[in-house]
Amino acid sequence: MVAIAVRAPHRLALEDDSHAQPGPGEVAIRVNRAGICGSDIHILHGSNPFVVYPRIIGHEFAGTIEAVGAGVSHIAIGDRVVADPVVSCGKCYPCRIGRSNVCANLEVIGVHRDGGFRSVAVLPEENVVKVSPSLGFDVAALAEPLAVAANVLSRTECRAEDTVLVYGAGTVGLTVLQVAKMKGARCIVTDMDDERLERARAFGADVAFNSKSQSVAETVAKELDGLGPSVVIDGAGIPSLLEEACRVAAPAGRIGLLGFSGAPCNISQQEIVRKELSLVGSRLNRRFIPEVVSWLESGALKPQAMITQTFAAADAAAAFELIEQHPEQTLKVQLAFDA
Ligand code: MN
Repeated sequence: MVAIAVRAPHRLALEDDSHAQPGPGEVAIRVNRAGICGSDIHILHGSNPFVVYPRIIGHEFAGTIEAVGAGVSHIAIGDRVVADPVVSCGKCYPCRIGRSNVCANLEVIGVHRDGGFRSVAVLPEENVVKVSPSLGFDVAALAEPLAVAANVLSRTECRAEDTVLVYGAGTVGLTVLQVAKMKGARCIVTDMDDERLERARAFGADVAFNSKSQSVAETVAKELDGLGPSVVIDGAGIPSLLEEACRVAAPAGRIGLLGFSGAPCNISQQEIVRKELSLVGSRLNRRFIPEVVSWLESGALKPQAMITQTFAAADAAAAFELIEQHPEQTLKVQLAFDA
């Protein structure tokens, strides 16, 4: 029984896991696989403004139900599940209009409360989604990052007639690419690293180009009869990109933002009004995991190749070191808690 905690910024610790029994409405998951996310690295570095230390981290995890609390009706012992880390109150204005991911009382598992990098995690019944036994735990644990992509593509109303420009071919960019391709959209991916661009091509990018050697504005100008891309997603989280995104987007275009930088940027109101652009933020996911699980089960999404390394949970420190020292060698690194 192990748990991976960040005791304070820069202090990763492997601890004995002594979890509670599930209370009313809660379930206990025997965790099998968990993915490390960029936001886990931010918590380790002390650069996540929401976290309170010490914290057991991890919000992308899948496993088997080991125990259920009183009143749990939709989930049974032995069910395979993936977690949805978004805990919402259900009462505030955003919850009432179906925007539970920006709940006024939002708590994220692995950030505001203890997460899934542990042998057994206890969470509310509403925060687990059943998966078919035919789906591997490793693929099931990719449902959360894919739900983040589904959320931003819902916010930007991505459809088959769209051309989507994705900034960044890291984990976020590649999940956006996969979901947008599944929706039938044409996808252009830009990054500054050729290896990442090669991966984007393997995941179906129609065009993948290096922005160090090729101008983004010129490369995308010929899309949609010279109007530019109709959807632009910033999967890189770089504020200065927003300026360019507004410039290159087609009239009636939608720009989806996922980054959490506090830095301001210079955007032109004229550009936004002239083209009636929509700039939308997208945070976590608005209950998209059941839909993502159905896409994974049907084979509409095949994200397995995103998993570049798997470490035993006891070797978590080595996994974090690899991500920090050699980010170019990793895409999604997972921890195995079943050993
Ligand atoms: Mn994540």
